[in-house]
Order: sequence, then C-alpha cells, then structure tokens
Amino acid sequence: MSAQTRSGNKRLVGLIGQPVKHSISPAIHNAAFNHMNVDYFYIAFDVREKELGHAIRGLKALGAAGFNVTIPYKQRVVRFLDKLADDAKIIKTVNTVVIEKDRMVGYNTDVSGVMNALMPYKDAISGHEALILGAGGGASAAALALARLGCNRITFVSRTPSRARRLANFLKRRIKISAKGMGLSINELPAIAKACSVIINATPVGMWPNIEHSLLRKEQIPSGSIVMDMVYNPPETMLLKEAKLAGATCVSGLDMLVFQAAESFKLWTSLEPPIEVMKSVAIKTIGRFV
Ligand code: NAP
Repeated sequence: MSAQTRSGNKRLVGLIGQPVKHSISPAIHNAAFNHMNVDYFYIAFDVREKELGHAIRGLKALGAAGFNVTIPYKQRVVRFLDKLADDAKIIKTVNTVVIEKDRMVGYNTDVSGVMNALMPYKDAISGHEALILGAGGGASAAALALARLGCNRITFVSRTPSRARRLANFLKRRIKISAKGMGLSINELPAIAKACSVIINATPVGMWPNIEHSLLRKEQIPSGSIVMDMVYNPPETMLLKEAKLAGATCVSGLDMLVFQAAESFKLWTSLEPPIEVMKSVAIKTIGRFV
C-alpha cells in the first residue's frame, strides 16, 4: 500500500523525536523533493516514549517510505527494526529508516555526514589524535567517521564519566580503535585538547538560545587544529568563534546536517540529492530561529 493524500500519490517520510518543533529537516527535505520534482513529503512527529513502537508501526502501516530518528530515540528505535545496515550495525545507533516492502532497515547517515564534512581535512586527521566532547549517539557517529579517516586515538570527555568510558570501551571492541573516556570536569581537559589535531563537540552546549556557552576557550584550542561543532544552530557557535581566534580551521554542524540529510534523501528516493538547494534552505531556515 502506498501513502495517499488528497493531492495524489505522495509518499510520506517523517521525523520521529521529542522535541521536534525546531527541526529544520522538514524544510530541507521538502525543498529537495520539490526541486527534484519527486512526489514525497516530509513531516516531523513529536512522539512520546511510550508511543514509540506504535508510531513506527503506524508509519509502516501507512505506507511511508521511511523516516529520520532524532533525540532521544536513535538507540531506542533499534529494537523495532528488522535489520541494521553498515554503520548503524557497528554503533547500534540509527538516524534513518527505510521501509521496504515487508521490513524496516536502519541506517546511520550521521557517520557519512561527519565524514563528508571532514573529508577536506583527511590528511590532518589521519595518524593523529582526536578529542570528542560528549558520549551519546553523535559522539559514536563522529568516532566511526574519524576512524574511517585514519584517526589514531580518540578521547571522549563527557559530563557523565561512566558514559564516556563505556563508549570508549565499546568502540575499542567494535572498531579496534585506541580510545579512552573521562569526565568533563577534569583538570586535564586543556592538556588533552592541546595534544589533539581534531576536536568535535557532540554535546548540545552552545545551541540556540544558549549561544554564549562553549566547553573550550581559545587558549585551550591548538592553532592549526580542526574544530567541528555538531551544533548547527547557530551555524557559527561560540566554540567555533573561539577556535577561529585560536587559529584553528572551523567546520560547522550545518555541513554535517546537510550531508546526513542528503544521504537520507538518497536512501529514500535512490536519486542524487540536490545538496546546494538543501544547504541554502538550511541556512535560510536557521536564520528564522537565530
Ligand atoms: P545525546 O545522545 O543525547 O548525547 C549528548 C551528549 O552531550 C551526552 O554525552 C551528554 O552528557 C552531553 N551533554 C548534554 N548536555 C550537556 C551539557 N549541558 N554540558 C555538557 N555535556 C552535555 O545527543 P546526540 O544525538 O549525541 O547529539 C549531540 C548534539 O549533536 C546535539 O546538539 C545534536 O543536535 C547534535 N547533532 C547534530 C547533528 C548534525 O547533523 N549537525 C547530528 C547529530 C547530532 P550526559 O551523558 O552527561 O547527559
């Protein structure tokens, strides 16, 4: 059964998370669908935890082509799926689901989102150390991307030290990378940051409306390092401002957002995504919130 609307044979794709009210994914995907003239439409669904299974099974029953998954369900969604593909299987974290005829397959396009955003800096990453701030789903996607780019060793620093240690141990087993986890309030953070050629913020710190916050100051950021903030609203966060002052190369979470969305678009439609259109809509839509 395919999804029907009063306007014809449109196929539904969606976003499941809580909250989703400020998501710009509907704007990005609907602009891409319109630009490519394909009959899909994208809706964000604010889903309560106890309704997660019903929501997923409901989308399948309605003939949706698939859906994105965001905080806080990227790991919890796994048990409702029939299969995990590639990167999602390694880190057990899903941000995109494709609903095939009789099964639901989970993917993780955050990994390729980070990889594509950092690809221009591959030579600076390969053989070097990285610091990841945070230990959630975004941090694990970033770690897998860094490992693929040849990064040597990763330190996870998290507000909850046990979570950082657990993620480091998990990745050591899954992808055979040298990794360690520690607490955010430790005194060693500046020294660790100084030894790293890549720093990625995978926490919400600095996100609108708390835009004046940054976990690192310019004195703690090595000049010549690559600093990426997964936070995309604002596109230039306080961390990136500090990094710029320190003489680092800055990578906005907006690049990752667009690349991961492009990969999801491709999975649902089998078409090449209109990346420039998606990026320009993302910038315009964020401008309305900042
Ligand atoms: P998550 O699984 O909930 O993990 C969040 C991490 O941030 C946890 O380690 C958490 O620590 C830490 N954290 C939360 N609030 C903090 C605070 N006030 N101070 C210090 N640490 C804090 O979330 P996620 O999926 O990894 O996402 C993390 C961020 O990346 C979000 O802002 C998300 O929007 C962004 N993101 C962006 C993209 C993109 O395409 N640009 C894609 C994915 C995610 P505790 O364990 O102590 O709670």
